[in-house]
Amino acid sequence: MIEFQQVTKRYDNDHTALRQVNFDLARGEMAFLTGHSGAGKSTLLKLIMLMERPSAGRVIVGGQVLNTLPRRQIPYLRRHIGVVFQNHQLLFDRTVFDNVAMPLQVTGVPARDIGRRVRAALDKVGLLDKEKMNPIQLSGGEQQRVGIARAVVNKPPVLLADEPTGNLDPELSADIMHLFEQFSQVGVTVLIASHDIALITNMGRRTLTLDQGRLVAGGKPLSVGVPV
Ligand code: ADP
Ligand code: ADP
Repeated sequence: MIEFQQVTKRYDNDHTALRQVNFDLARGEMAFLTGHSGAGKSTLLKLIMLMERPSAGRVIVGGQVLNTLPRRQIPYLRRHIGVVFQNHQLLFDRTVFDNVAMPLQVTGVPARDIGRRVRAALDKVGLLDKEKMNPIQLSGGEQQRVGIARAVVNKPPVLLADEPTGNLDPELSADIMHLFEQFSQVGVTVLIASHDIALITNMGRRTLTLDQGRLVAGGKPLSVGVPV
């Protein structure tokens, strides 16, 4: 579902953030992405969302080679990728319902379908009874669940999370991870960038480890003939 072939990303200032990264995540696989600050985690996620383009190598998502994807098709790609952020980026001037409905409104889903789909997403994160509240009235863990409902309301085949539990205590963090697990069980490919080694160890999932832009664990061996 997500494949990196010899991906290198060099920024305009000549800084190389990723070096010859190879890996392959299957449909329904859940994996972690870890490494020190500056190791290249956010860059890797940005390449999947096409917020950045690779300098070399190929990025393939859902069978689509992203390198040559025309700019006008980027919004269509993004609809197939749910993203969860550490600070969840909720709007505090509208209700939980309206926050979750936003991606559907942007993509022109008919109004009669919006209510059903928002409630299905809120149900999956256990917040069906909070739809009329303002996110500011919710706890940190609940706010993050609203962020997850918003990320999955379009039923994307890919779910990315950048430090989704950065502000949560260990118990709430584990709850959030179990939610991600449930999405992977219905076929969603989930990639979670995290620093939280204890949490990652507890989950016992595949872990892609970046060190100064190199994938040092969890990837696949370089293909034959490529100089190491
Ligand atoms: P992480 O998410 O693991 O902290 P990043 O992917 O954010 O790592 O950054 C990897 C490296 O690339 C860092 O050294 C960072 O300073 C650099 N970097 C990130 N974004 C840019 C950019 N837009 N331009 C130049 N350098 C960048
Ligand atoms: P409907 O098809 O009526 O919109 P639901 O929204 O309740 O029904 O979803 C139907 C099934 O699809 C559920 O079992 C749900 O768990 C599963 N599903 C598949 N992909 C996703 C996704 N990306 N996010 C959430 N649920 C998903």
